[in-house]
Amino acid sequence: MSVFQKWGLKEIINASGKMTALGASAITHTVAEAMGQAASSFVKIDDLFVAAGKPIAEATGAEDGCPTTGAAAGIAISVAAVIAGTNLSLIERIPDTEGLKNQIIIQKGQSVNFGAPIRQMIAIGGGRVVEVGQANLVEPSHIEDAITENTAALIYIKSHHAVQKGMVSLEDMIAIAKRHGVPLIVDAAAEEDLRKYIRLGADLVLYSGGKAIGGPTSGFICGRHDLIEACRAQYKGVGRPMKIGKEGIVGLLTALEEYLAWDATGSVRRQQNESMRWLVGELQGIPGVTCELRQDEAGRQIYRAYIQIDATIVGKTALDVIRELESGDPAIYTRNHYANVGCIAIDPRPLFPGQEKVIARELKRILGKEGSP
Ligand SMILES: *Cc1c(COP(=O)(O)O)cnc(C)c1O
Repeated sequence: MSVFQKWGLKEIINASGKMTALGASAITHTVAEAMGQAASSFVKIDDLFVAAGKPIAEATGAEDGCPTTGAAAGIAISVAAVIAGTNLSLIERIPDTEGLKNQIIIQKGQSVNFGAPIRQMIAIGGGRVVEVGQANLVEPSHIEDAITENTAALIYIKSHHAVQKGMVSLEDMIAIAKRHGVPLIVDAAAEEDLRKYIRLGADLVLYSGGKAIGGPTSGFICGRHDLIEACRAQYKGVGRPMKIGKEGIVGLLTALEEYLAWDATGSVRRQQNESMRWLVGELQGIPGVTCELRQDEAGRQIYRAYIQIDATIVGKTALDVIRELESGDPAIYTRNHYANVGCIAIDPRPLFPGQEKVIARELKRILGKEGSP
């Protein structure tokens, strides 16, 4: 029984991933407990923000950190911070930055939509977006040529949504930023590595708390102390409609703590692989269906079950199967990046124990193995 059923919503099984559209992450009981305690007490919020900087700094190797409602807010607040700094009069003007150093340079192949446009998040922070190069090819000279006395920062989007080939590398962009004395912001929203971009020399790096970290709807920015102070200061301006509350900050910090200690022995991942191997075995032998375990395309230690459907034998396309899974009760949501070529993937990370059995049962029913006695 899901809490959402009270409002007439169907129970769902998420075999898709950490999708905002399905509620991103399901937090642990420890995180929920900490959030409940925070929500039902008081604290001096300015002090909580400063205190949160320490564990974020420790987790990332940065000088300081600032909580946000998410990575999208992280973009807007970072941009506002590099433009307005800690000057209250400027902070109160954002997003009006007429006459200020306000240009934000982005490679065209990284000016994408993650659920909302990156451009719009930059504009909310008062940035004037300067897209350079072409969608499939950007050269370092495109970036160098675009830098003027009005450049406030360069931004680099590390994401599977962005074009992966033909872009200027982060290392090269950092070198260019340093040569010209402009800050570099990295959007690392869904990245698992919390230290890499700071180590490489980025000035501000922003993450989502609800993606890799598995926390509640939240996020953070980490980086140079002076710029993080400027980020915190934006809550007196454009940051206000993106306010994260005390329970969100405590949830984020507790989830961060668990993330750093998570799976030290690898037992969670072994269990996930085990359940996907079981699922592949269960579906083997259905006419027109081939299954295999395949590693994550981005090389992360995630093994998903891939179900290849031959529509001429099954009599249904992968898209038909997906529609049936989603219209069931519980509704099952799979990972459908390759559905156009007949392939459905099952992501083990968001599954609760035993849900792979429900998925196997429903798939067998839809694919016809259990259709006849
Ligand atoms: C998901 C995502 C965001 C937004 O993250 P939220 O925490 O949902 O605000 C921003 N940028 C990229 C590249 C993303 O993938």
